[in-house]
Amino acid sequence: MTVDADSLHGSGKTSARARAVGDAPVGMVAAQVPEGLTLSEGGAAVWSPSITPSIGVDLDERQALACAFRILARDGFSENIAGHITWATDDNESMLVNPWGLWWEEMKSSDICRVDPDGKVLEGKWDVTPAVHIHTELHRRRPSARVVVHNHPYYATVLAAMGVLPEFLHQTSAMFDGELGFVSEYGGEIDSAELGSDLAERIGDASVVFLANHGVIVTAATIEEATYKSASLDRQCRLMFDVLVAGGKATTVPPVVRPAMKASLLERGTEVFWAGAVRRTVREHPDVLE
Ligand SMILES: [Zn+2]
Repeated sequence: MTVDADSLHGSGKTSARARAVGDAPVGMVAAQVPEGLTLSEGGAAVWSPSITPSIGVDLDERQALACAFRILARDGFSENIAGHITWATDDNESMLVNPWGLWWEEMKSSDICRVDPDGKVLEGKWDVTPAVHIHTELHRRRPSARVVVHNHPYYATVLAAMGVLPEFLHQTSAMFDGELGFVSEYGGEIDSAELGSDLAERIGDASVVFLANHGVIVTAATIEEATYKSASLDRQCRLMFDVLVAGGKATTVPPVVRPAMKASLLERGTEVFWAGAVRRTVREHPDVLE
């Protein structure tokens, strides 16, 4: 894709979103769909397992959130001290969050703090940075977004700086079908409710959002789905980066098959992704549960 830097970054009100979403880069065309076949409708309606391997331990919410930090840190989603994951109660009266100063890869259950909707610490032994307003205002605006994940994964951040969204280069990227967004404006550090609210407005309904010169935000209704999507995102961005570096010619997953693939990935894959990722985390780092 040829990025028009002026229209993406310099014009204030002109959002990159409309340009970046749906405009396939030059050289990228949808793969041909075979004719004469009845294509899969995907999802649990087509097939769901009668039994799946369990996690092996019963997790409370703090333990589950601590596992999410470790899972994503292991996959390279976090940039040393940066980022939050927040998990709000259904009534949005409070949310669990990581404290300031601990890296995602060292998070334990007992480190998790609880803050009120304005980011004030209610429970926990640590401080929480004002950057949590990126999350508090998104939770306030989007009641369905119970979990908000934010950090600066490398390849996603490269694409965000280029003003480019990842194309649907691989079937796994279908999990992001209809969910991508791009915020082209960059106003520096977000450390107040006002700035967080402004960002939440720019994000709108998108749940996988690229922030120019900053990073990404992934929102979902559950910790399992938020972690699965976040863990899958940077690999899709790396595919995109590598294809662009290799000249930009590639086929993409045709739009007509994406919804079925998305349903299969999320309805069938989320639970087993989470269970396997937690098993690996507890096996490698049993202190995560402490
Ligand atoms: Zn950030």
